[in-house]
Amino acid sequence: MQTNFTLAQLADPDVAASEKILRACVHCGFCTATCPTYVLDGNELDSPRGRIYLIKDMLEHDRPATADVVLHIDRCLSCLACMTTCPSGVHYMHLVDHARVHIQNTYERPPFERLLRAALAWLLPYPQRFRLALLAALPAKPLAPLLDAIGLKRLAAMLRLAPWRGPRRRLGPQIFPAAGARNGRVALLAGCVNDVLAPQINAATIAVLTRHGIEVVLAKGAGCCGSLVHHMGHDGEALAQARANIDAWTALENLDAVVINTSGCGTTVKDYGFMLRTDPAYAERAARISGLARDISEYLATLPLEPAEGTPQLTVAYHSACSLQHGQRVNRQPKELLAKLGFVVKDVPDGHLCCGSAGTYNILQPDFARRLRERKVGTIERLRPDVIAAGNIGCITQIAAGTKLPAVHTVELIDWATGGACPPALRAS
Ligand code: SF4
Ligand code: SF4
Repeated sequence: MQTNFTLAQLADPDVAASEKILRACVHCGFCTATCPTYVLDGNELDSPRGRIYLIKDMLEHDRPATADVVLHIDRCLSCLACMTTCPSGVHYMHLVDHARVHIQNTYERPPFERLLRAALAWLLPYPQRFRLALLAALPAKPLAPLLDAIGLKRLAAMLRLAPWRGPRRRLGPQIFPAAGARNGRVALLAGCVNDVLAPQINAATIAVLTRHGIEVVLAKGAGCCGSLVHHMGHDGEALAQARANIDAWTALENLDAVVINTSGCGTTVKDYGFMLRTDPAYAERAARISGLARDISEYLATLPLEPAEGTPQLTVAYHSACSLQHGQRVNRQPKELLAKLGFVVKDVPDGHLCCGSAGTYNILQPDFARRLRERKVGTIERLRPDVIAAGNIGCITQIAAGTKLPAVHTVELIDWATGGACPPALRAS
């Protein structure tokens, strides 16, 4: 694609990076077929190619974002299916991230929208605040249909996603020693939403790693990876959260990996090197941390896991989270691990399409998110599985809100099948 940026514009490293991405696009439109929003509404402006044109026009003319541009960029899930499909290697993720920062800096959203986004950015990355918000949401959950009926769909979506039980106590910074001889040492990103909504995921991760001789460190000072605010265009906050994690993890010695069990976070941590490339104080360390980042399934695939006695012969519908399959290109390992441990693994048809979770998308775009969930749940239920497995808390929460089937993290099944505890969602079903 031909571009017309001035030399002065290209002096900005973010503009220069976006210009390079735009030039790679040959407008072939292959990406439209796999874009969930285009599949839903057939609008070219809700396709990757349409969005690329909108972003090009906005950045090239260096103009403030318009309501129309914001509408179509906001509808993008950042699922990155377009990156998997694109034959020209267009790095849509970096382009849309830049567009979101431009929108945040140049567009004044309506007051309620501003308030909602500010509240999400203030709450979600901070587990103590998020815990209190969940406690407050608990008695209000039955009001979700009423809020829907009077048009407050986003508040209704938030209540629907909140669990019916109170949040659990989270894990603080500490070291979990390896059982027996130590064969490795990893830092675990305990996360923010993950740790409050589903602490059993971190418990299973720690249990399976330590049982296989891996010491697990929850580093002091590590917190949210930054992706929740990054996807809202809050650049400064996202980079501050990334820097805090880099400080925390680079202070640890002899790390083999930074293990992440929420694939949305993993995609962001693997991108720290790019996000901080122009910061002389962090560029080198950020790249080092990105190089150490591993999804839990990638790391477990390097260990000699064996099924324990009496491994359950369950049929698992494996939902491949977009951030794992498109963002990190990790497809094989979770399914191979489950199959090796005795589960019957079924791929979900149309598995390249997002379930509609996408960070805060299911709150900010409730209609698109609901339609994507219904589609995903329909394809899963037709497989008649005993359980749904995914590698991302967002997908697990989103899908579980639309089905009676138990939905668990892949690592919960792996831990169980190698001698750990049965996942709570399976005990309850
Ligand atoms: S598939 Fe790639 S090159 Fe083709 S229109 Fe989409 S982004 Fe551009
Ligand atoms: S990231 Fe997903 S929703 Fe956004 S343009 Fe690409 S395929 Fe479409």
